[in-house]
This record gives sequence, structure tokens and C-alpha cells, in this order.
Amino acid sequence: MSTCHDERFCRLERWEKQLDACIRCGYCYEHCPIYMSTGWESDTPRGKLVLAHAMLHGLVEPDEHLADKIFQCFHCRRCEKACSSGVKLLDILRDARADLLDAGFSPTGTVSQTDHERCVRCLNCARTCPHLARSFDGLHVVADPIGCVGCGGCLDACSAEAIRIEKDFGTAPDGIEARLARAFEEPSKPELVVFCCSYSNRPGLLHTVGQREAGRILYLTTACAGRLAAGTVLMAFELGAKGVMIATCAEGECDHAGSERAARRTEGLRAVLQKLGIAPGRLLLERVGFAGAAATERAARDMLDGLQASGSGMEG
Ligand code: SF4
Ligand code: SF4
Ligand code: SF4
Repeated sequence: MSTCHDERFCRLERWEKQLDACIRCGYCYEHCPIYMSTGWESDTPRGKLVLAHAMLHGLVEPDEHLADKIFQCFHCRRCEKACSSGVKLLDILRDARADLLDAGFSPTGTVSQTDHERCVRCLNCARTCPHLARSFDGLHVVADPIGCVGCGGCLDACSAEAIRIEKDFGTAPDGIEARLARAFEEPSKPELVVFCCSYSNRPGLLHTVGQREAGRILYLTTACAGRLAAGTVLMAFELGAKGVMIATCAEGECDHAGSERAARRTEGLRAVLQKLGIAPGRLLLERVGFAGAAATERAARDMLDGLQASGSGMEG
């Protein structure tokens, strides 16, 4: 016989001590791309823990909206790395998700979704998903809502354009392009645009705000560097950027095969830039990896200093 207090949350209950270990210091929040997009406390990693704790103790009744919040996560682990109390956020949230699915909820969160009308069942997505999170269920090609980390790799693999991530929190091309355009409408236009992979090296909120005030470097987060579209990079140059840096995981460290896709795309783009009369050195792929915000910022400043010293791109 089960000894759980609430039959619906037996897995989550195992983490009760860990849920209590969160001291709400907030060290995690500035690292979370979900919170960076919405600014809502309930979207911070600690906010998710508060919701999980409240559901476990019957303070709030779970519903589809709350369940969806728990499924909104790019699994980047940045919150865990920043946590002052060693809270195992990813393990806790994985078990909370499994409990919510068993309880009959069907949230989409950041899980990739298939348009079954468009899908031609080629299974390219299943073959390329590095997390083995896509499969044919006998009727449709579907994503495993626990295994899918929302990296977007399958979107690239699907020529039928049958896959989408409904809640991308501004990390998909259209969201990034909107932020890019807004930044260049400001009186102090950025000189260097840095597209940062949120899985490895996006600088924290405070650094980002500081650099934007300085007006020289604009940091924009893409969920996975592999999702950064060539058109978005070209748009940065068209808007007046003197240089573009794509900051990715270090070689061999990317869990989503995104760094390699980004590297191939960058090589192709550099060749195109040369033909367009734009010095290819104005576009760099920097494998900063998990070295942290300071390393990303140092690489960005070095690139901008190098461009200024060589006069490359400084004509604008
Ligand atoms: S794993 Fe990443 S996206 Fe998920 S809650 Fe933590 S910081 Fe946010
Ligand atoms: S790659 Fe696209 S079309 Fe092919 S099985 Fe996956 S969802 Fe369907
Ligand atoms: S490739 Fe990424 S987004 Fe697509 S199913 Fe796999 S983990 Fe999810």
C-alpha cells in the first residue's frame, strides 16, 4: 500500500527535503531563459519549486495552467549550477512532470509538438533527436514530454515543417529578430551582436543590462546555437552591426548537436559574406562553453577591439 500523502504526487514527495532546502536566495533566477523572457517570479526556477511545494502540500490545486508552468523549461541546468543550496532542480521537476502526466494533465510547455496533418512520417526527427525523445506511437510521430528538452534540433530536421515549440520564450528566430530590431531602434546602437546559446554561456541578467547600457555589445539568447537562423545573422549586419559573434558550447560538449549545426551554418555564412563584400572576420563562432559569463564577455570585447583595430566593419 502506498504511503504517500497525496497519491498524485508520490514521486515528488520523495523530494520534500530538497524542496525545503531551497532558501529562496534567488541566485538561480537571473540564469533562467524563461524568466529572462517573461520577468515573472512564477517563471523563475525557484518559482517552479514554490509551485511544486504548494501542489505537494495541497496549498494549490493543480490545473493545466500550473502543470504547463512546470513543463516550461529548456533543461539547461543553469539554475542548478547557480544554486547556493545544491538543490537538484532538474530531478525534482522531472518527477513533478511525471506525476502530473500520470494525474491526467496534458501540458505542452516547451515540449516539441507535431502537426499530424503535415507530418509525412519520415522519422528524420526521431533519428536526429539527440535525446531519443521522438518516436512513432503506432499512429503518429510524437515527442516524449519528459525526455524532450525543447532544444529545437528536430525543427531543423523536419523538411515538412511539421514541428513547433509553442512556447519558445523569445528564443526562436522571430522572437530574436524582434529584439534585434528593437535594439537598433535605440539612439545608442550596438556595435557587436552576440548570439548566446542559453545551454552554455549566456551572460547573466546583470551583465547583460550593464553591457547594453554601455551601448556597445548586445547579447541575445537563442535556446540552442543550432537554432540560430542564417537570416537572423544577416539581419544583424543589415541593421548596422559591425560584428556578430555566435557563442556556443565547447567542442564535444554540446548535448544537442547544436554547436556543430551552428559551426556549419557559420562557415557557409562567412563564404556568403565574402561574396557580398563583407569581411568574413566580422562573423565569428566562439566556442566559449561553460567557462561562464566573464569568458563570454571577454571574448566579445576582444572581438570588438580587434574589429576596431583592423578597421574592419568600422566604416559604418
Ligand atoms: S533548467 Fe534552465 S530553463 Fe529550466 S528552470 Fe533551470 S534555468 Fe530555467
Ligand atoms: S521529421 Fe517531420 S515529417 Fe518527418 S516524421 Fe518528424 S515530424 Fe514527421
Ligand atoms: S530534438 Fe530537441 S526539441 Fe526535438 S524532440 Fe528532441 S529534445 Fe525535443
